[in-house]
Amino acid sequence: MTHVFHRQTKSVPPTAAVGDGVYIVDATGKRYLDASGGAAVSCLGHSDVRVVNAIKAQLDAIPYAHTGFFTNEPMEKLADFLVDAAPGDLDMVYFVSGGSEGVEAALKMARQYFLEIGQPERYRIIARRQSYHGNTLGALSIGGNEWRREQFRPLLIDATHVAPCYEYRDRRDGETTEEYGIRVADELDAAIRAAGPETVAAFVCEPVVGATAGALPAVPGYLKRIREICDRHGVLLIFDEVMCGMGRTGHLFACEEDGVAPDLLVIAKGLGAGYQPIGAVLVDGRIYAAIRDGSGFFQHGHTYMGHPAACAAGLAVQHVIRDDNLLDNVKVRGAALRRALESRFGNNPYVGDIRGRGLFLGIEMVADRASKEPFDPARKLNAAIKREALERGLMVYPMGGTIDGRRGDHVLVAPPFIIDDSHIGEIVDKLGDSIDAALT
Ligand code: PMP
Repeated sequence: MTHVFHRQTKSVPPTAAVGDGVYIVDATGKRYLDASGGAAVSCLGHSDVRVVNAIKAQLDAIPYAHTGFFTNEPMEKLADFLVDAAPGDLDMVYFVSGGSEGVEAALKMARQYFLEIGQPERYRIIARRQSYHGNTLGALSIGGNEWRREQFRPLLIDATHVAPCYEYRDRRDGETTEEYGIRVADELDAAIRAAGPETVAAFVCEPVVGATAGALPAVPGYLKRIREICDRHGVLLIFDEVMCGMGRTGHLFACEEDGVAPDLLVIAKGLGAGYQPIGAVLVDGRIYAAIRDGSGFFQHGHTYMGHPAACAAGLAVQHVIRDDNLLDNVKVRGAALRRALESRFGNNPYVGDIRGRGLFLGIEMVADRASKEPFDPARKLNAAIKREALERGLMVYPMGGTIDGRRGDHVLVAPPFIIDDSHIGEIVDKLGDSIDAALT
């Protein structure tokens, strides 16, 4: 009998006992190749001594000092690193402990910014259908994942939702990719006009959608158009890079590839790489200046923000990524993994689409390739794939959800940045067998 309130309330998962590179070993000695980094978290695998030693050294020096009283060295250094690397005018870093906390802070910053500059009526938030931005009530309220939200109505924020950028399903015959990107981006323009631009605070989106859509990148030009629309209406642009950021796509920030910088950018997962819980909001200097020159106090804070050991971990993770040239490995192995998935599943009649960037790849399962008809949700295909994969010692991240109101099953493959060709072979073999077994 366990007293832990596990999220799977009807079963207790295996006990993770030891980390060994890209593998997790459970208490019975069974090995699992972590081909999803948990949920795109463990970008360095599970046993990098350089990160562990950096955390130990920080614990020896000063384990905790409340940020209401002190700053600390790893926090200052990690902020310097992030600002140097970040696109646009993201010059200030607000540390938190995870993705949902980061999204909450970004939403409140947007609201406070408009209060400080004398536009208190700008409070509306627009996000995209089928998006996930976290599980705390504010973040849940803006997400467009209807089945997650419905039981918690009335929600804290009455957000509006526009279409996600979902080329596989939504590009029309005869329409170019570029024309499609413009058409879908222009839904945001229409939504802002319908709400009244003077009431809209921010638009939130993931540059590459993670969990809810299986590594779905925006088409080229879409995010640029979104940036222009936000600027035209004075609306802040918030990128949620909690999952796709910190190197996952082969760039430290996913939006770099699109050449677009937001006003607020939320990161978490890969920032601490699972060695410590940490997240951050990167903030445009203009927003920071409005708060500094106005009230001088941001109405938000958490006990563990800027935790020295978490920041030391974040800094060490970035040093490892730089020293081992891991962003190059993400690009090279990402391309190899994608080719291997395409050759294993290219002719599978139940695989509709293989997509993604870097080591952030997704497979969309369909009951019929020609019509793109999804599987009957009652079949719970994603759960079966997860179960079959775990049985074979493989962690992938299948999700069944609705995209824009339509059911779908997706498998997210997001292994650590340190994988080599033998891991790629093992992932594809085991995933192939798991999908075959789940389909029978
Ligand atoms: N935003 C996105 C895009 C996410 O994928 C997640 C977590 N899956 C979150 C926010 C919430 O992060 P956390 O679970 O760390 O609160």
